[in-house]
This record gives sequence, structure tokens and C-alpha cells, in this order.
Amino acid sequence: MEIHPVKFIFHSSVVSELFNSEIINRCKGFLEKFNTVLTNNQIERFLLFKEYIINDSDNKARDLYTNSYFDLPLENYEFWIHAYKSENGTSYNAMTGMDMSGAAVLYERWNKLYEPESTNPDYFWQIFSMVHEFIHHYIFPGELYYLAEVKDLSDTDPNLSIDVRFDGIENVTWWKDHQEYYNDPMYNFNVSTINDIKISRLHRALINGKYRSPKHLASFPDIKNINITTQPESKIVVWKTDNQNNEATIISEGISDINGLFNFNWTVNDITELSSEPDRLRLVKVYKNGYKPSGKVIDILDLLEASVLENKTIYSTGINQELLDSPIIPDKPPVTDPVIPPLDPILPVLPPSPPQPIIINRIDRYRPLLNDVLQEIYGCSTEFAYIKDKQEELSKRMKVLHDKLSDIYNKIKTI
Ligand SMILES: [Zn+2]
Repeated sequence: MEIHPVKFIFHSSVVSELFNSEIINRCKGFLEKFNTVLTNNQIERFLLFKEYIINDSDNKARDLYTNSYFDLPLENYEFWIHAYKSENGTSYNAMTGMDMSGAAVLYERWNKLYEPESTNPDYFWQIFSMVHEFIHHYIFPGELYYLAEVKDLSDTDPNLSIDVRFDGIENVTWWKDHQEYYNDPMYNFNVSTINDIKISRLHRALINGKYRSPKHLASFPDIKNINITTQPESKIVVWKTDNQNNEATIISEGISDINGLFNFNWTVNDITELSSEPDRLRLVKVYKNGYKPSGKVIDILDLLEASVLENKTIYSTGINQELLDSPIIPDKPPVTDPVIPPLDPILPVLPPSPPQPIIINRIDRYRPLLNDVLQEIYGCSTEFAYIKDKQEELSKRMKVLHDKLSDIYNKIKTI
């Protein structure tokens, strides 16, 4: 357990009309609540009231500390809580700094210094926001709440955009895999009681470890060797999506090997760049014939977890690829009936009729004529019957044949 002496720096408007003893009483009340949050979350640090001073000039007060990246002490440093003037009756604009002495500074515009038993939401906000700034001293200065809304600007499948408010946090893949950050004060600003503030395992490990941001950063897996495992010989494209400048760029591209392994470089010059919002995450997209396009968002928290919580020097992750549904068989082309040429007319085979010598003789006499007509009908049928534009000619010729047959018929009948 490390004990940090605390110095309060107040603008006089924050503590006006309060006796010295009451100011000290209220400072201790504030720290008691703050320490409750730390204890609830197994943080091995304790803030102990040391003194307070009044400093009315914002500029002069800011000169008390600096954000310079000097060699911060990892032990035996103070916390300074600097409450400067609020101009709108509420507390806001919490930030983090550090002093040349190595003191960790938490500063914010405060409306007032509340009495210990106050239930004013503004008092809770002072405690909550200072816990948020306290955690910043041990982690990267980037903001976890950036991951509430990130647009995938690559314009490629799958769309890996994150929109917690629109989709609901339980439906966002990255957040489903990181549920312990839901109530972390680096992300969730909607908690309303001290006991609802839940510091995640990673942030707890960083706060309890020998780290101070940004000078003494947590160790990282090798950011030039990020391992992705996919189906063998999948195409992999790694994107950086820059929501501030509204652009996306490919930072790595290739094919996974026969074991499904692909390795990429985060392509930042220095790990401190990982805290900047476009560089804190990468969109990894995977393609393979027969599989749906798939992908994964990787954030610096994933790398920190691998290093700090799992003691790994290389970050590796797998990307699931879902098989496409059974291949779609195209519908058979519509069957168009082949044009079948008309069958040759088949003359009915009549049963032999009983001998009728006279009639047979008459027919026999006109049989050659009859055959000519029948042949002509047959010829007409095969030549014209199924040709629409010849119908008219056909009907003319059939009429001629009809007349010939009638003539033959009359001759047979009358003989
Ligand atoms: Zn912050």
C-alpha cells in the first residue's frame, strides 16, 4: 500500500465563507470517499490529506505544475487536487497534469467544496471525474470512451464500425468481448454512486504496478509482430480508420500461410502514438473463397491485456470465418419445347369392307386421280401447314383440291 500525501489548491471562490477547520474537514471528507473507491477496487494506494493553499490566478496556478515528460518518480510522490474557478455554477473540465516535483495533479473547475454528507450530484461528479483523472496517471492518456463510436471508413466488407448508442453495447462485438469495461470510470460516465464505480482488472493492474503515464508506460507486446490466425491462405487487409481526418488507410495486406498465420506491424513510430485515437485501434479484415468476409477490431487495450494480465510478449488473436451458405445453384433455364416437325399425315386404316364389286370398280377407275389429289394435299400440308404467313396460299390450294375431290366424288357416285 502506497500512501500519497495530498495538497489541495483552491480558487478562493470554491471555499469562500468557510473557516480553515471546515475546509480541512471537507477536504478529508472528499478523500474519504475517494479512498472508498480505491479500496472497493483493490487499489493499493491511499490519499492522505497534507495541506491546502489558496491560489486565485488560474494562470499562476497552472504554473505550479507542468505536463513536461521528465523522469517521473514511481514512488513517494504527492497528489495535488487543484480546484480552480467555475464560471457556471457546476464542476467541469477535469484534466490531468504533473508537477516538476513529480506530484500527480488532478485539476478541475469546481463550483464549491461540498460538506462530507452532501448528496449533490455535482459532488459525486467531482469524485468520479477525479477518479477518472487519477487512472490517467497510470494508463495511456487516450480515452476509452473513444470506442463508443468509431466509423469504419474503409468502405469494405465487413463493416467494423462501432456505435454503442445506436446498436446497444451488448450487440457490439468488441464490447461483448470486453464487458468488464462497461462500468469502468474510463468509459462509463453514467454511474451515480461510489459503489457503482468498477475499475477493470487491467486498469487495476496498471494502477497497482510501477507505471506512470506517459513517461513510464506499461510494457507492450512487440507491436511490430501482431499475429493473426485465420483459415489457411486467406487474404488479410489491416486498416487504420481515422475518424478525425475522415480517411482510412491500409497499413498491411497479405495472405495467411498454410497454417493460417499472418503477421503485421502496427506501423507506429513509438508506442506513445498508440494513445492517439486513430492509432489506438486496427481493423483486421479476412477474405477467403467459400467464407463470408470477416474481421476484428483490435485496440491497444487488447495488447495491454496480453502484456500486463497474461505476461505475453507477442499479441495473437484468431479471427473466425463463417462458411457461406450452401452454394446457390442457378435455376435451370426455362425449357422451350423444341420445334417438332409435324408428323406425316397417317391415313386411317379402314377395316376391309365387304365386297361391293360395283363401287370398288368405280373407285379403282378414279384411283389415279384420287392419288394425285391426296399427294397434293400431303405436299401442301408438309410444305405450308405450319408456316403462318403461307396460310392464305394454303387455303387457296386446299379449295382447289376440295373442288377436284368433289368432282371425283360426283363422278364415282353417278357412274
Ligand atoms: Zn480522460
